[in-house]
Amino acid sequence: MAESDLVGELDAFLAAHQAELVEFRRDLHAHPEVGYSEHRTTRRIALRLEAAGLRPAVLPKGTGLIVDIGGSREDGPAVALRADIDALPIVDEKNVPYRSLNAGVCHACGHDVHTSVLLGTGLFLARAAAAGALPGKVRLVFQPAEEVPGGALDVLAAGGISSVERVFALHCDPKLDAGKIGTRVGPITAACDKVKVKLSGPGGHTARPHLTADLVFALGKIITELPAALSRRIDPRSGLSLVWGLVSAGSAPNAIPDSGVVEGTVRCLDDSAWHAAPEMLKDMVESVASVYGVTADLTYERSVPPAVNEAVSTAMIVAAADRVLGSDAIAQAPQSLGGEDFAWYLESVPGSLFRLGTRSPGSIEEFDIHQPNFDVDERCVPVGVKVMAATALTAIGGQHGSASVITDVSTADPVGEVRAVGAAADGVTLAGPLLPGHAPVAGP
Ligand SMILES: [Zn+2]
Ligand SMILES: [Zn+2]
Repeated sequence: MAESDLVGELDAFLAAHQAELVEFRRDLHAHPEVGYSEHRTTRRIALRLEAAGLRPAVLPKGTGLIVDIGGSREDGPAVALRADIDALPIVDEKNVPYRSLNAGVCHACGHDVHTSVLLGTGLFLARAAAAGALPGKVRLVFQPAEEVPGGALDVLAAGGISSVERVFALHCDPKLDAGKIGTRVGPITAACDKVKVKLSGPGGHTARPHLTADLVFALGKIITELPAALSRRIDPRSGLSLVWGLVSAGSAPNAIPDSGVVEGTVRCLDDSAWHAAPEMLKDMVESVASVYGVTADLTYERSVPPAVNEAVSTAMIVAAADRVLGSDAIAQAPQSLGGEDFAWYLESVPGSLFRLGTRSPGSIEEFDIHQPNFDVDERCVPVGVKVMAATALTAIGGQHGSASVITDVSTADPVGEVRAVGAAADGVTLAGPLLPGHAPVAGP
């Protein structure tokens, strides 16, 4: 597809399909399914893709699917676009026509939007491929169970991105206006692991700590020494923090207990620090415990890594968004200490996740994801389709050696400080009015 045609082609496609995509989103919103039970969702996506002449393959566990668009095996690696499709075990407290019909389950993280955007992107790219205007292969990954988390690991285990050169995703951002996106080079979401230290000793009378092991004192040392020592052993730029949330020991003021436990989380924005943390903590726990003669048992439960956006991939998103939205629509995305299982893909292949603004411009209401009243301004859906489709075309264009729109990758800041293009300007034009029947989450 010629560069100059893209904006017009996208506008024409969205004029014909925007209403369908919004209806698709509302249908998913009314029928949310939690991780690994997204059977209806998977079926709905598959049927629509098949109707467009595509051949989706459902993942081995029965939910989520992968579909390739354009190219052939000989064309080599593909560019992957990923959406997560699962909902949360939260009661939907909104009063909208598309309120959840599944008790206690709600699309409160916007994955219904992600899914609809990726479907629209796929339909657009399929049309381009049929017209011989797709210069490479694009793989759509409709991933289950992001919130569990772990769906990304199933996709990886199924070889879902083994022949993929780059991977892209988006996530709703209710703090950013619909019509805008947020990008960032470097870590955009954090690792979040669980840590539990259990101490054991003989127990005894508080009158004679020297004849037993003063377990509560040792536990106090673990609580204060571990975060302090970590802050001196790990690069302070890594954003690593160990914070305790639970501590328990003892049952009487004059008895030293024989066991005690402390639990907390390790959050981290740096991949190498995240990899180093468990072994380092193990050494520290053992050395503190041995001084006081107690036995320590560390349980370190890994969750998602930090999601580290690669500079070139992020520059591709910025260039694509600049083409289809304009530079005023691109903002700097802040870092989040929340987790995102897209990070697992980024451990294998370069890629980038951007934020899709979902707030109604001018709204004074503050929404956050994972809240029971979370909703979006649905004009974000066509915005997402435009940026995703343009990003895919940019990436495969670059991959196949045709005119790349990445003119100055070097301007992408490798430490993620300055990649914003322009401030979050007012007056970004959204594509069309709200659709009939939409109850806006907050009017301007
Ligand atoms: Zn979530
Ligand atoms: Zn999410």
